[in-house]
Order: sequence, then C-alpha cells, then structure tokens
Amino acid sequence: MQRSSTSVSETLTEIGQRRPALLSAINTFSALLCARAAAVPLLAALPDMAHVPLPQWEAQRAEQHQSLLAGWAPQGLDNALHLAATEILPAITALKIFQPVKEKLESFFLSPDPEKTLARTALMGALLAADEQAFIARANEADLPPEILELPAEFIFSAVLRAVCQNIANRPWETVGAWSQGYCPVCGSFPIMGWLDRPAFDEKNAYLAGGGGKKYLYCGMCGTNWRFQRGVCPACSAAGNGTIEILREHDARHGERLEWCTKCKSYCPSLDLRECLSIPDMDAAALGMLHLDIVAAEKKLQPLRLSFWNQF
Ligand SMILES: [Zn+2]
Ligand SMILES: [Zn+2]
Repeated sequence: MQRSSTSVSETLTEIGQRRPALLSAINTFSALLCARAAAVPLLAALPDMAHVPLPQWEAQRAEQHQSLLAGWAPQGLDNALHLAATEILPAITALKIFQPVKEKLESFFLSPDPEKTLARTALMGALLAADEQAFIARANEADLPPEILELPAEFIFSAVLRAVCQNIANRPWETVGAWSQGYCPVCGSFPIMGWLDRPAFDEKNAYLAGGGGKKYLYCGMCGTNWRFQRGVCPACSAAGNGTIEILREHDARHGERLEWCTKCKSYCPSLDLRECLSIPDMDAAALGMLHLDIVAAEKKLQPLRLSFWNQF
C-alpha cells in the first residue's frame, strides 16, 4: 500500500489550479482540513495515547463483520479531545455558519468542567456507534442544534481516532482476506472515496511485482484504507456484471471517476492512481471530486457517506 502522499495543502493547490470552479469550496474548507492533518501527529504523540484501552483485533469478530471499535465505549481520551479541539475549533468557528454558536461550541469542546469532559466522550461514543438519538440528546444538553454540532464533532473526533489508529501496531486488517466489508474495519464508517493502486515494483530486482489496479476504500473518519473487491457494491454487497457502473467526465483525466451501484443507487467517488502524477492526500482529493458529487445528485444517486461539503 502506498504510504507517502502529497500534503493536504499541496493537493488542494494542485486541484484548484486545474479546476478553478472548485476554488471557492477549496478556500472554504482548506484551513479545516489542514488543521486536522496537523493535529493528528500532535495527538498521536500525547503520552496517554499509548495507553488508550482498545479492543484487540480478533479474526473471529472480523469474520462476523464486526469492526475493531464496534461496541467500544471511548475512554482515556480526555486530553486528546481537548487538544484536538484547541487545534481544530478555530478553523471551524471561522466559518460563517458557526459564528453565531462560537461561544457554545467553545464551551462544549474546551471547558475543563468535568461534566463537559464526560459529555465530550459520550458524544464521541454516540458518533462512533452511529447512535443518532444519543447524539441528539447530547446536542440538546449543549444547547446546540444537532445538525450544527455534527461537523465540529466529526472533525475533532476524527482527528483523535486517526491518532488512535496511528498507534495501533501492525494494522491486522491490512492482511489479505482479513476484512471484506464495504465499511471501515476500524470504526465502521462508510468510505468517503475509493482508489485503485499503482503497479508495484520490486526495488531489489527491478521487475514488476504487481500490475496495479487493486481497489481500496478510504475512511474519512479514522483515515483507514482497506482492500475491497472490484465490481462489488460497498453499500449493498451486490456483485456481478452490470452492478457497478463507472461515470467519467467527457474529458477524463487525473483518474477521477464515480462508481455507482445500479441495484441500490449509492455511489462513491474514486481515484485511479495509475492516472495521477502524484499520490494525493485522500481527504483533499475527496473534496476535489465535489463536481462528481454534483453529477451524482443530478442522477438522484445517494452518497455512500455524506461529506461535510455536501452539507452546506
Ligand atoms: Zn474508519
Ligand atoms: Zn448497492
């Protein structure tokens, strides 16, 4: 799997240059994506992050399609949640839509009050479990509309989750055959995009070790990539001829495409890295395929996972 990639800001600059129509969206969300990317290594380096009590990866649970963190009640993350909010919240409250609730957001995410500390962890648990009722209850307690709390909660918690994932040794879900579902093996979220890998070269012998084109899905929540079978729908698991259709622009370049399921009408943007000059930052690349989200909306297709830029 490719590990080294271009940074968020480099990826966004490159997309903005070739696709000026996206500049306004890029300018709106760039600071937010950059703040999260910068926060992750700081969070991963926090001393208590090495001791977060996490479930162990078990092949048996994976065979039953349970993600690593399914049923996990977040704990040991107080310092990480506070630091993540300190680093990321300014980029959120700078957005116009959050200015009227700036003080309430700061009070919820930054207050050292033990009750608020507990509420933050509980909100993270609700988000992880995709428990909408619990999320709404927490939002009501914080006197914030749930739909307004969603983006700040997702960004701050996703930074913490990414740091948690960075500290998990050997990534057992990357073993071939360890996980075959269309949702994330770690946090259970649906992917924000997919990608096809490049040919692999054996550096010692300088011969082609693999032809590339293997499919991966990318989780925008915890930052995990995992192998997924081509031609299968990540949402409804339908497979077979004619199940997945591929939509490309007339002037298709840079590997951008939209894969959609003719059975359940869900779609996922995807990038063929064999057609990319460099390996982009995946979160930035997903934002850079916003024009495909618009095409999909016109075709009445449903995103596999709603992205923050679709909510504005
Ligand atoms: Zn995930
Ligand atoms: Zn489907």
